[in-house]
Amino acid sequence: MDVSHILNSLNEEQRKAVTGDPGHMLVLAGAGSGKTRVLVHRIAWLMQTQQLSPQSILAVTFTNKAAHEMRSRIEELLQISTFGMWVGTFHGLAHRLLRQHYEEAKLPKEFQVLDSDDQHRTIKRIMKAMEVDDSRWQPRQVQSYINQKKDEGLRAAHIEPGYDIYTKTMQRLYQAYEETCERAGVVDFAELLLRSLELLRDNAGLLAHYQRRFQHVLVDEFQDTNAIQYAWIKLLAGQEGKVMIVGDDDQSIYGWRGAKIENIHRFSRDFADAMTIRLEQNYRSTQTILSAANQLISYNQDRLGKELWTDVSGGDPIDLYAAFNEIDEAHYIVARIEQWAREGGRYSEAAILYRSNAQSRVIEDSLIQAGIPYRVYGGLRFFERAEIKDALAYLRLVLHHDDDIGFERVVNLPTRGVGNKTLEQLRVYAREHNVSLWQASIAMIQAGDFTARAARALQIFIDLIITLKDDIEDLELDEQVGWIITNSGLVEHHKSQKGEKAQAKVENLEELITAAKQFEPGEAEQELPALQAFLAHAALEAGEAQAAKHADCVQMMTMHTAKGLEFPLVCIAGLEEGLFPHQMSLAEGNRLEEERRLCYVGMTRAMQRLILSYAESRMLHGRQTFNPPSRFLDEIPDEFLHEVRARKQKAVAPRFTQQKSSPEHPHSLGRRVRHPKFGDGVVVSVEGQGAHARVQVNFDQHGSKWLVLAYAKLEPATMV
Ligand code: ATP
Ligand code: MG
Repeated sequence: MDVSHILNSLNEEQRKAVTGDPGHMLVLAGAGSGKTRVLVHRIAWLMQTQQLSPQSILAVTFTNKAAHEMRSRIEELLQISTFGMWVGTFHGLAHRLLRQHYEEAKLPKEFQVLDSDDQHRTIKRIMKAMEVDDSRWQPRQVQSYINQKKDEGLRAAHIEPGYDIYTKTMQRLYQAYEETCERAGVVDFAELLLRSLELLRDNAGLLAHYQRRFQHVLVDEFQDTNAIQYAWIKLLAGQEGKVMIVGDDDQSIYGWRGAKIENIHRFSRDFADAMTIRLEQNYRSTQTILSAANQLISYNQDRLGKELWTDVSGGDPIDLYAAFNEIDEAHYIVARIEQWAREGGRYSEAAILYRSNAQSRVIEDSLIQAGIPYRVYGGLRFFERAEIKDALAYLRLVLHHDDDIGFERVVNLPTRGVGNKTLEQLRVYAREHNVSLWQASIAMIQAGDFTARAARALQIFIDLIITLKDDIEDLELDEQVGWIITNSGLVEHHKSQKGEKAQAKVENLEELITAAKQFEPGEAEQELPALQAFLAHAALEAGEAQAAKHADCVQMMTMHTAKGLEFPLVCIAGLEEGLFPHQMSLAEGNRLEEERRLCYVGMTRAMQRLILSYAESRMLHGRQTFNPPSRFLDEIPDEFLHEVRARKQKAVAPRFTQQKSSPEHPHSLGRRVRHPKFGDGVVVSVEGQGAHARVQVNFDQHGSKWLVLAYAKLEPATMV
């Protein structure tokens, strides 16, 4: 049988992995060494030489997109259909199992999958019904508790309530949540995995069927599997199935979501006769890029250890741009992409990577100005993000009370007891009388059409909007935006949710203040009041449809999303202490190493050119920061770097500790302060730190107000 076409394009080590005896196999290798390629070729080779049908293969990938590519690669290599082959993500495959065996899994035929937001809402509802104080026990906390337990394979019934109130409460809520989901016939993401695991474990016949069927189980990006995913692989493989895992401990970047690098060690123990293969030749990047990345990752302590080399000697140095500020940084990146295009490159060959989503806005702005098409992966463009639209809805409503879309969006956000029933009554009235929802509210409250509770809730909202309008009258645009997102309760709402996602939303909201600060009205907008001009600008930016999937456009994404991908030109923005490595990782060694791995992932996406940048001053989340360059830059030897502008200072390792003590809290308790609009008052509470610091001020004339320090223009008041 001719298999040469499968093996042609492989080096010796890769060939060993592809043609190794059908047994367990572990391919442990660095970025760009052909792990994914080996996995695909191994499937083709097995099918060809063992006469396996597509049915007998189960392959796990990191994204659905990767699954799709894998299929078409195999079809191309073998000229056959891959119909019947199970290829997908863990969640996708678990879902498929449950759909096929819903009865055995004790699910209704039409069971629904809850996404993370749905899950959160369900938990909130349960807490309310059980009268659990949600200021003491945060719904997000409950949510991650439940998901974590499920990821460990534990049901509520498995958990000893014990004596401490925390475990007791969590266990009780978990139990109630399980019952609710059971009744409603819904499953969340973690449940997909747990339930399909239980399905197989508790149905011997079914398990035997699948274990017989899947003779080969192959897993890409294994370093990011968690406990239950591991158990799932083990169970499906059974005694007979052969498991091949490929991964790179240096690219494990989901520890914060329960991924366990130790699973690699576990695999070696559990599948003791596994053949281990290391691939050391990198086919992706130039020697310069690779050496720089190797040096960087060598700063991590706990590594399985490996060196990568490449045939592609030399390569251009890595450009390092010390931007004056974030706008300068964005302009530089755009200029480099224009240059790339001028020299014959395609936009789609260029990727812009960043640590947090909020960074994309300024860069998007520059790209739009330059007329360069772009696409934001795994996320929405800034002005399309839900939290931003919420904030804009408030702004619009404050300007025009009759804005029905804005009204619908935020009348009950944050929750203030305006229910669907009230809203429906309002819609009917508005339709019948041909008035806005705002006008309908006022008329119906006056007419006594609502229950006392509903009327009160609605009145609170109306009063809020009127007060906000009054409050912002004399403020600058950015202060107006800051004032409204805080006093509408939006910032507080997201803050109370905890977790990375909620944190990102707060960051995005604060970034909206920066956007306002930097906003310059266009020619057509000169005559408009600033806020109105700003809203028009935001609407237009959001309306600009994202370039089509296959169009030639610049690729923007976080470094997490970039895993497994490669691009000829890569720009990584925002290499500053506190941003990357992220502030939240600085306190913990483990997290810092994970940030370094993330940087390694980012750098090793680059094939020909890598451009790094940092800004000496950055306006982010509505606050100006002066963070030193990232320590990661110092970990890359100078010989690989070409500094585009002289760096002013080098990062000394523990520089970040100085950050915290910088004078961010000039307004301590009891101090008298002055606000340009509200006059003098006394600070009565102080909360949070850095960009999130808030103070409550009791103003002599205007009563008590909460202000976010970063943008409230507070000055010490002179004593009278
Ligand atoms: P990552 O760790 O980033 O997921 P990887 O180890 O999975 O990387 P691949 O994506 O499989 O690496 O391969 C990296 C690049 O090198 C791809 O463009 C691939 O086509 C190419 N490549 C891999 N092996 C060879 C080879 N033997 N000859 C030519 N090109 C190769
Ligand atoms: Mg890969």
